[in-house]
Amino acid sequence: MSYVDDVLARVIAKNPSEPEFHQAVTEVFESLRPVIEANEDFYKREAILERITEPERMIKFRVPWVDDSGQVQVNMGIRVQFNSAIGPYKGGLRFHPSVNQGIIKFLGFEQIFKNSLTGLPIGGGKGGSDFDPKGKSDREVMAFCQSFMTELCKHIGADTDVPAGDIGVGGREIGYMFGQYKRIRGLYEGVLTGKGLTYGGSLARTEATGYGLVYLTDELLKCHNDSLEGKTVVVSGAGNVAIYAIEKVQQLGGKVVTCSDSTGWVYDPEGIDLEALKEIKEVNRARLTEYKKYRPDSEYHEGRGVWQIKCDVALPCATQNELLIDDAKQLVANGVTAVCEGANMPTTLDATEYLQKNGVLFVPGKASNAGGVATSALEMSQNSERLSWTFEEVDSKLKRIMVDIYHNIDEAAKRYGKEGDYVAGANIAGFEKVVEAMLAQGVC
Ligand code: NDP
Repeated sequence: MSYVDDVLARVIAKNPSEPEFHQAVTEVFESLRPVIEANEDFYKREAILERITEPERMIKFRVPWVDDSGQVQVNMGIRVQFNSAIGPYKGGLRFHPSVNQGIIKFLGFEQIFKNSLTGLPIGGGKGGSDFDPKGKSDREVMAFCQSFMTELCKHIGADTDVPAGDIGVGGREIGYMFGQYKRIRGLYEGVLTGKGLTYGGSLARTEATGYGLVYLTDELLKCHNDSLEGKTVVVSGAGNVAIYAIEKVQQLGGKVVTCSDSTGWVYDPEGIDLEALKEIKEVNRARLTEYKKYRPDSEYHEGRGVWQIKCDVALPCATQNELLIDDAKQLVANGVTAVCEGANMPTTLDATEYLQKNGVLFVPGKASNAGGVATSALEMSQNSERLSWTFEEVDSKLKRIMVDIYHNIDEAAKRYGKEGDYVAGANIAGFEKVVEAMLAQGVC
């Protein structure tokens, strides 16, 4: 059995009941096969694949809090500090009832390569809780966040581990957690990113993941003699990533006709009304059923279904495993040219393969959604120098980073004879830098 297959089998056996983690490791290992097999004895002696799939540290803790009726509630909190070879751990916190150890490990593992691709000095980590902020009062969310941070603050710091937001964690949650960290640790430091602008946040961080996704998509199309101008775009999700992806596509002359949340989806053939969407989701924290009140000619459907709409470009921006093999077939039948992931691992392995085999330009999230963490790293830089940069400064750095990522993954794929395979390109380029740093630091 080859070294790659042997370690993959052991990772699966050692981490039972973690299918998302298996999926992420399988995808990365398949891409790395030519790199590893070109020098198998060396990588095996150094146990590189074993080291890169075993988190440096995992912290799991109880989060007790009191709801508005006086009832004590208990949630699970977790932080996975996966790899610090190239910098302090960096990665978001997810609050969603589906959160478990396997999901956080898959996200933390992906984060290692994504952070490496940004070209910035940040290691990989991820965390979260099975707490569901939906339907909770502000006081309940604050009580939960304070309890969560009371434990987490012992393990993080501006130079060790710097969490950010993810699903269910936006500006409100970051604010409550920052306040609690400061109170307990007595430190005013850049320990979290995605902060409000009045207390150390960076301009353009809110927009960064969605904007970055579209900057990379635009560069991809340009390098294939095409552009977003006049294109029909299908987006899933209606959260932070989706909203700012829609905004940037519209600015670049494309038309986004769908969005979705966990209960249903909207089809607006005239183009999504972004102001309405922001009001529904960012201000009122309401469901997408509200959208029809603003746009009576749009359609609302329960369940999932955005991928059946004919489009040129598809941007999955909701969650993992939301674009399945049948969706991929439908997209191809409808003539899609490019699929770029805004969410983390939204496309299943078989769907990815189908898209690639049918000539669709496919960019994995670890490259195309890296703008969020890249801008978080820019927020860390601003916090360290106690300065704030203008929106334009941050946005132009973000754009540069996304264009560089595209060319970097394109070049890595070509180097291994896999031109146009951006999954391989992203995994190889991300891996090379991390491994060089790991080897330089000895066995640790
Ligand atoms: P938000 O919580 O702001 O939005 C998530 C959106 O996806 C919501 O519309 C939500 O609907 C929907 N959604 C969540 N879970 C499910 C589900 N199980 N089924 C269907 N729809 C679902 O999160 P973000 O926009 O921040 O994150 C979206 C994705 O992007 C995630 O994969 C995240 O890891 C990734 N990402 C985010 C970054 C960031 O900077 N925020 C950076 C890089 C990646 P509802 O509200 O109804 O639950």
